[in-house]
Amino acid sequence: MENSHVTVLEIDLNAVKINLNYFKSKLYKKTKIVVVVKAFGYGSDAVEIAKFLENSVDYFAVAYLNEGVTLRKGGIKTPILVLHPQKCNLEKIIEHRLEPNIYSVNLLKRFIEISRILKLENYPIHLKFNTGLNRLGFTKNDISEISSLINNQNEIIVKSIFSHIAASEDLNERVFTLQQINIFNSISKEVINLLNYTPFKHMLNTSGVLNYATEAQFDMVRLGIGLYGFGNDEKHTKKLKSVLTLTSIISQIQTIRKGETVGYNRAYKATTTIKTATIPIGHADGISRKLGNSVGYVYINNKKAVIVGNVCMDMIMVDVTNIVCNEGDEVIIYKNQQHIEALAKASNTIPYELLTAISQRVRRVLKSC
Ligand SMILES: *Cc1c(COP(=O)(O)O)cnc(C)c1O
Repeated sequence: MENSHVTVLEIDLNAVKINLNYFKSKLYKKTKIVVVVKAFGYGSDAVEIAKFLENSVDYFAVAYLNEGVTLRKGGIKTPILVLHPQKCNLEKIIEHRLEPNIYSVNLLKRFIEISRILKLENYPIHLKFNTGLNRLGFTKNDISEISSLINNQNEIIVKSIFSHIAASEDLNERVFTLQQINIFNSISKEVINLLNYTPFKHMLNTSGVLNYATEAQFDMVRLGIGLYGFGNDEKHTKKLKSVLTLTSIISQIQTIRKGETVGYNRAYKATTTIKTATIPIGHADGISRKLGNSVGYVYINNKKAVIVGNVCMDMIMVDVTNIVCNEGDEVIIYKNQQHIEALAKASNTIPYELLTAISQRVRRVLKSC
């Protein structure tokens, strides 16, 4: 059955395109673009984003196998890099023509084993090196083993080698970042020497493109959050277009008299008569409980309405004492990047988490120009 939820995440594809072009304007023409659409396209709609961008970019990347399968089932033909495969996923990755990030000797050995059994020929894989994030990746010490494993076969081919910066958005960490870039440069040289061919190299995410395009552009970049309008810094975000708008409607308006309470655990106690609006969105839709009790706010008829009491699973109540409004009126839960950033800050997190928390219960709609 079609999703009939009145709480809706609107995705402005045109704005995505404008943001992509903004990043392209920061890059050399020949630089390839990987669009990262993991986590449902940062909470939007991975298939729709991928379909829309398929002819403008070179690659898509997802975190997990099932996200790649969803793209393939959605008709996406572009190469797809799976950033975080597991040993047990490798057959399925091949079955769906996905390209694995191989990040350990263990995983590489298993992939080669499978590629022999399946008699693959030049199957593209990507090698990830850890240069300081200390999350996933080979180290310099693995290079000789990698090259002896890879040079003795023709089932697989290294399409790219890459690394990930730990603090690309934080210019106070510039020295560390430049060191990561140096390490990556020296690892790449060594790998390419031993392979006898030259895979693509890539290192930059959104903030990397904004801050290190000169030092570490290489052959490709991996863009995620930037396409949704976030530059991880006010001055960059200002240049980007708002893509996502989360809206709902007022279900009911209540009058709360002095001494009465609102919501679970009676967290709000009225000291004077107030008017609240109940809205069909709660923590099961992605509104963090941390935003309860006046921390978070929505917009109703262009005015701020703070959340009253605790966030419920399916609802929030907001203060509309001074707002002229009626049941059925539109409520803007996430208005634009600035609003999302303010809410993220107030709840001690980052926009990435707010976006990806918007649950699948919320209806997605594409804004047509
Ligand atoms: C998520 C991710 C990206 C995209 O990062 P943004 O900051 O959203 O641009 C790039 N590379 C890797 C390895 C990632 O996991």
